[in-house]
Amino acid sequence: SENRVIMDEAAIRRALTRIAHEILEKNKGIEGCLLVGIVSRGVHLAQRLAERLEEIEGVTVPWGELDVTPYRDDRESDVDDVDAIAAGDQLKGMEVQGKKVILVDDVLFTGRTIRAAMDAIMDCGRPESIQLAVLADRGHRELPIRPDYVGKNVPTSREEEIEVLLQERDETDVVRLTQK
Ligand code: 5GP
Ligand code: MG
Repeated sequence: SENRVIMDEAAIRRALTRIAHEILEKNKGIEGCLLVGIVSRGVHLAQRLAERLEEIEGVTVPWGELDVTPYRDDRESDVDDVDAIAAGDQLKGMEVQGKKVILVDDVLFTGRTIRAAMDAIMDCGRPESIQLAVLADRGHRELPIRPDYVGKNVPTSREEEIEVLLQERDETDVVRLTQK
């Protein structure tokens, strides 16, 4: 069947602008916030959100990136503990301690990636809080995790996936529903 467009370029732009405003409303500004994008497309979304927040508030918003692969509970067994330490190192320079950490990812599915990201964050210090922003939530959670900020809720069947293309990597901005 045809791949259905869920969000076009304008819809993605508007959703990120809305989420930026929601972040400011929830946190009464941006002070003490740290955006952390999950590799790979979450990083571009975190950077875009940081840019939006700077445009709105006129202050620099710190952001960084995190690759949680070594922290996944369902990772391949050939990944050793050296990689887990490396994941912690990624965040060391970011001062998680006492911060309102806002995780940013493209798609939320089972919740296992975000659980792993929370583990990695906690390894680096004690944040004041951890929040979650996703461009699309496709459902099928396997853990008690819910996003604070959602671009679009996309109820999917087990046979459906979401394709996210972003300008920075894919030379176009679009979110599509696809059949596996
Ligand atoms: P989870 O860990 O919640 O099962 O899956 C979320 C992670 O896997 C995210 O980092 C996301 O990039 C990726 N992911 C899971 N399902 C999809 C999907 O349907 N489309 C895309 N683009 N990524 C997905
Ligand atoms: Mg991902």
